[in-house]
This record gives sequence, structure tokens and C-alpha cells, in this order.
Amino acid sequence: MEESLTPPSDEPAVEFERRVYVPHYEGWTAQIKTSWDKDYCYTKNPGEDYFHLLLCGEVYLVNAEERLCLNCAKRRGVITDDRLYWQRGVRRAPPPAF
Ligand SMILES: [Zn+2]
Repeated sequence: MEESLTPPSDEPAVEFERRVYVPHYEGWTAQIKTSWDKDYCYTKNPGEDYFHLLLCGEVYLVNAEERLCLNCAKRRGVITDDRLYWQRGVRRAPPPAF
């Protein structure tokens, strides 16, 4: 079966893309917060003077130095919902190691 990156024509288009990609993934891991401890995203939105509280059950990204909510990761360019990012010169991921 031929692999396609576009949905078949009889499949409705996704209204809001929830699949996200980390083009430069080295050092990053995706985690799910499993406690109600007060942990905060390390970044603020421009113009805001508070950090984002991460909720129990929330998916977030971590690397050695920081923890980011997905909104900040998107704004910072760490994640993208552009499935074709690899075609746009962002990066071509190396083959998976087995
Ligand atoms: Zn944030």
C-alpha cells in the first residue's frame, strides 16, 4: 500500500491539529504531569508577568534546563503542527536506531 501524507478524500479534514512534532528533538522528552505539585512552565507569554501552572495530567516538554507547556513550546518553535516540516528545510530526521 502506498504511503501518503495527505488524508484520503473521503476522510474529513481535521479541524484542529493535535499531532505535534519536535524537529530538533535532541535533549527533549514529552512527559505527562502525574502530581498536583505546583510546577510551572519556565517561560511566560510576551506581556504576561506570570508563569503557566502545569496541571496534573498535562502533557509538557522537558530538557535539561527547562520545562515548557505546549503553548510556549509552540511559540518558541520547539514543536510544530506542520507535518511537512521536514520538507521545508527545518530538518530531516535521522533514521530511527533499532
Ligand atoms: Zn508556558
